[in-house]
Amino acid sequence: MSSITLHDKSFRPFIPYERLEAAIDAVAEKINSDYEGCEDVPVLMCTLNGAIMFCAELMKRLRFKCQLSCIKLSSYQGTQSTGTVLTTLGPTCDVKGRRVIICEDIVDTGNTIIALQEMLQHQGAAQVRICTMLLKPEVYDKDVPLDYVAMEVPNAFIVGFGLDYNELGRNLKDIYVLE
Ligand code: 5GP
Repeated sequence: MSSITLHDKSFRPFIPYERLEAAIDAVAEKINSDYEGCEDVPVLMCTLNGAIMFCAELMKRLRFKCQLSCIKLSSYQGTQSTGTVLTTLGPTCDVKGRRVIICEDIVDTGNTIIALQEMLQHQGAAQVRICTMLLKPEVYDKDVPLDYVAMEVPNAFIVGFGLDYNELGRNLKDIYVLE
């Protein structure tokens, strides 16, 4: 793996795909042990666009009946969080009375995920759990515990495996960090 350039910035290799896969295996096992044998059909709520690769990898590993739904939120512009969370699409199914597992790419301040959790609770979801591929524990400042975290990362701007820098880099199989 070598460094890459997206727009005006350089990124160096940070987390290889093999490590992501192992972390997703582990988090999927935790979810399976909580939901396997359930009689309802939980909703896996994929936060577009960033969580698309993670959600696909996670779903393949789940051994209970689940429904996929998508939602699009936005709080980031370039490499900075704006602090305001906007819903630009979805959710693509009715969550009333359903157990929902939010499938997020990365939790930074937590503004996005907590706003989404509150929104789904408002819409009548029976339970809303949070699953994130990556967490920046140094930045996360909310009291709400995150149910499932695949991997922790330091406070740096990263791209790849669904994560973008101004819409570039989502297709990278490995994760890169800003140089
Ligand atoms: P939060 O609301 O937790 O501050 O930010 C969450 C959202 O910001 C994520 O869903 C993701 O879209 C974006 N984000 C946060 N940190 C990063 C990062 O390091 N790289 C990229 N590409 N996006 C990030």
